[in-house]
Amino acid sequence: MNDTPSTHSRIAIVGTGFSGIAAAVKLIDEGENDFVLYERSGEVGGTWRDNTYPGCGCDIPSHLYSFSFAQNPGWSRTFSGQPEIQTYLKRVSDEYGVTPRVRFHHNLNEANWDDEAGLWRLETSQGQRTADIFISAVGGLSEPSTPRFPGLETFEGPAFHSAAWDHDIDLAGKRVAVIGTGASAIQFVPEIQPEVARLDLFQRTPPWVMPRRDRRVSTLERRFFKAIPAAQKLIRTAIYWGRELFVLQMRRPRVARRTQAIALRHMHQQVKDVALRETLTPDYSMGCKRILQSNDYYPAVASENVDVVTTGISEVRPDGVVTADGEQRPADVIIFGTGFKVTDMPIGHRIRGRDGKSLHESWQSSPNAHNGTTIAGFPNLFMLMGPGTGLGHTSVTIMIEAQVGYVTQALRLISGKATVEPTEEAMNDWRDEIDRLSHNTVWTSGGCDSWYLDETGRNSTLWPTFAHSYRRRLSKFKPAEHRFGFTTAEPVTEPIVEPVTNAEKQTA
Ligand code: NAP
Repeated sequence: MNDTPSTHSRIAIVGTGFSGIAAAVKLIDEGENDFVLYERSGEVGGTWRDNTYPGCGCDIPSHLYSFSFAQNPGWSRTFSGQPEIQTYLKRVSDEYGVTPRVRFHHNLNEANWDDEAGLWRLETSQGQRTADIFISAVGGLSEPSTPRFPGLETFEGPAFHSAAWDHDIDLAGKRVAVIGTGASAIQFVPEIQPEVARLDLFQRTPPWVMPRRDRRVSTLERRFFKAIPAAQKLIRTAIYWGRELFVLQMRRPRVARRTQAIALRHMHQQVKDVALRETLTPDYSMGCKRILQSNDYYPAVASENVDVVTTGISEVRPDGVVTADGEQRPADVIIFGTGFKVTDMPIGHRIRGRDGKSLHESWQSSPNAHNGTTIAGFPNLFMLMGPGTGLGHTSVTIMIEAQVGYVTQALRLISGKATVEPTEEAMNDWRDEIDRLSHNTVWTSGGCDSWYLDETGRNSTLWPTFAHSYRRRLSKFKPAEHRFGFTTAEPVTEPIVEPVTNAEKQTA
């Protein structure tokens, strides 16, 4: 292993999306100075930096989809668009002193726990860095998933994923093949439909689509929130508890049926063609996959220049897409709205613990982390938004803030050269609890195939109940559920790197 001068910090946070920024703000708050953040890109923001496709926005109300400690009275809409969320994240990162601690253009290739030295060795694109504590804040929606259709490499036109939108491609007058009808596709399809010549929408599973209750926030309202922050806090709290009620429909089919009726009515109002309605009607329970919200998806799909294609794709040819029935659909551009690698997260292959095994190997196709955060055999590793902490019904910022509070409690216990990891028993109990809570919910028995479920059929992605019960659970770090150790290695004395200046960032 390379022992040449490495840059050491007590804590290394990898990733600067919502969770990395939240962790850094909390550490600063705790008076912790010895930490840095590594970011593969040149800007903070994570998935909100990367996803710039037309129409990209959030389907959780802005007052809740933000940090509790950094409320934004200036949201221009009740559901924010990507540019505004990205601006918000950059502003929080700057205002709370996070940005100067970020090492941009540091892509994490590998992270290995060195048991002898009692530290993490992070192999980055800029060389090795070391840290006593490693906070992984890489997010679940960071690695786009693009199906490898036979012949894709022969396609002569541009082909790109929604998470890496190619803004240089002018879609006006083009024949476009869109693959996927998930949360991203239903946002960009209405944006591009009016300008393209033809749009073939390849739908494998129709989504449930509810009306989107989005509106502009008036200047008066914004002034009001600015003048009286408590009012915004009150609204946030009301939204929080209102969204918690959504869990009931995931657990009680009768409630779900009522909501399904609203979604069906929404479709009936917007799609007049009976055959198309049939094509767009899901055959699984609502909530089994993420419930989508849009007011312009159905009208776009019902437009004359759009065909919803439900026959599977068999291959891609230089000038189009061929379906299983042999029909060739000419295309100038292919856009993949095919989601992300969630259950087989790439970071799982890159992190290796005490015995050299990767997370992926130790998980055996079913990711698990105690409280979605710590993993036996991986000392001093804290995963933010780890397995079992995703949400479908409310804002992930709630989970993130609960986790960073929990992590800082753990860090207080291991000041000096100590290590912490959960006991196997605690990890098994947590997994059993996720399984018990998932049993008979719409996520596991709703009749769909979703990325919430891993290869073994377990829900290892979502926290399958109320967000407030997760908050409560993580409000107190329980030492008895963990194993502590002391490393005999000398403390690393290399200096902490000074914060990078903005000028350095630009030349990195
Ligand atoms: P997604 O919801 O996973 O949807 C992927 C789509 O691609 C699905 O329709 C899927 O069909 C289809 N697909 C995947 N592989 C395919 C293949 N080989 N052949 C044909 N179709 C294929 O991905 P996403 O739309 O990018 O959204 C991912 C997540 O991002 C969301 O669930 C949400 O958490 C987040 N997101 C959130 C917002 C927001 O407003 N907060 C907006 C965008 C995204 P099947 O359904 O049959 O698998």
